Amino acid sequence: MIIYDLECDAKHQFEGWFKNADEFTEQQLSGLLLCPLCGSEEVRKIPSVSHIARGASLKPSREQGSDEMVEASKQQVLQLFHDYVNRNFDDVGTRFAEEAKKIHYGEADKRNIRGTATAEQVKELKEEGVSAVQLPPVPYDKDKLN
Ligand SMILES: [Zn+2]
Repeated sequence: MIIYDLECDAKHQFEGWFKNADEFTEQQLSGLLLCPLCGSEEVRKIPSVSHIARGASLKPSREQGSDEMVEASKQQVLQLFHDYVNRNFDDVGTRFAEEAKKIHYGEADKRNIRGTATAEQVKELKEEGVSAVQLPPVPYDKDKLN
């Protein structure tokens, strides 16, 4: 996953997440890349500021001061999101794929669930039309701080 800092011709800045550099170029060339603020297709990559996120490696960069701030707030947002999911979603652990399917086919109560699934299981769920969202990992374990 590559995160690019992007800017439109009206100088709106935003982030774009791409599978790889090719996907960015493809979307840009085919006009799929739009500014979320004004809808402009004139979107360019801001040079030199880019992050590559791989799993749990979303760590603040120690070299760049301002980037560190940006990364810190991203972590907070991610943490809040995880907190929300933890509070409002029923934890089914490794039975996630099984439960998601049961709910999808009406064999279990419709509810929000969370848990763990292998990449293979997630693929299978998608093929069956079951909606599942993969969360990025929590940047740090908040439970240890409580
Ligand atoms: Zn714009």
